[in-house]
Amino acid sequence: METIDELVANNREFAASLPTRDLEVEPTRRLAIVTCMDSRLDVFAALGLTGGEAHVLRNAGGVITDDVIRSLAVSQRRLGTREVMVIHHTDCGMQKISDDGFRAELQAATGVAPAFAIESFEDVEADVRQSVLRVRRSAFLPHRDSVRGFVYDVDSHALREIAVEEGPP
Ligand SMILES: [Zn+2]
Repeated sequence: METIDELVANNREFAASLPTRDLEVEPTRRLAIVTCMDSRLDVFAALGLTGGEAHVLRNAGGVITDDVIRSLAVSQRRLGTREVMVIHHTDCGMQKISDDGFRAELQAATGVAPAFAIESFEDVEADVRQSVLRVRRSAFLPHRDSVRGFVYDVDSHALREIAVEEGPP
């Protein structure tokens, strides 16, 4: 059985075992989290969250792309969030590729150079700082006074905050 079939079956049991929920669309903690797609980071479990409490935006690396800013703009302007938590992690797949190398690989395989930035990184702390600054400097976001960055250790599960000094704009 394909994995997706198995998960659809899991959902039948899940839905049958729980009462119907009636949560509001606005996250009750007024929080948005931007993090990596890494399969070892269970965001809700790691932070003690449950459904209905926070927005979680995920992509390869937890990069602050235009689409993440789009989502944060909706999150803050329509759905009431006020704080942003950026979480990168140890042993990230984005540290194992290079922008030039992966771009060349995509172009060689398809004949087309991708229009998007690859956004690989070497130094996870430096990338957290850059990500926090990108959020703080986005004029599309009305709430930028509580934007904090962290590194999650995928082995110990511990979260470490990264101080972010404001650099030149
Ligand atoms: Zn990652």
